[in-house]
Amino acid sequence: MSVTPGACIGCRACELACAAAHMAAGATVGSLTRPPVPRLYLVREAGTAAPVACRHCEAAPCAAVCPTAAVRCDASGVVVEPARCIGCKACLAVCPVGAMAMAEVQDHGRPVLRRVPDPAVPGGFVEEPAWLASKCDLCRERPAGPACVGACPAGALSLVIPGEVRRVRLLAAARAMAAAASGAREEGR
Ligand code: SF4
Ligand code: SF4
Repeated sequence: MSVTPGACIGCRACELACAAAHMAAGATVGSLTRPPVPRLYLVREAGTAAPVACRHCEAAPCAAVCPTAAVRCDASGVVVEPARCIGCKACLAVCPVGAMAMAEVQDHGRPVLRRVPDPAVPGGFVEEPAWLASKCDLCRERPAGPACVGACPAGALSLVIPGEVRRVRLLAAARAMAAAASGAREEGR
């Protein structure tokens, strides 16, 4: 994900779209029982606003430190498998941009639960939503791509595909060289 410097107006539409894209199918504003959880975070400081999201690092440090292989890299980026996460926060500690958070996440539309001692019943247990690793997954299950990109009214966000960036730059360089060569020929006449 790339942010165009200075374009963000700080409206938080990206955060809302992100949270909505990761809610269970069929959820509505009226059915929410807790605040929606985004996977990118708007940072506002001294007149500057910008959303920060996972960079999907090559050789991702978060994946390298995870003791349960809950964070893994595949062809489409770096992803967290909530069912494998034990909430140890090692990934959060090593992320250089602060993109990893601990949150009440869902796995296939259902909150991941953990068993904790029940204070009302000695020896008993209750289940409560677990706080697990949570970060941008590039909306991998959304055919239209990352929801934040489409929701930004200022066009500040774009999805960067490294191979495509290289192709566009090579093309621009080739065109510039061709134009320069053509100009030199004109001058030589
Ligand atoms: S969570 Fe942080 S360390 Fe992990 S891939 Fe994303 S930006 Fe890189
Ligand atoms: S918090 Fe979860 S995802 Fe992060 S390192 Fe620990 S087990 Fe892995």
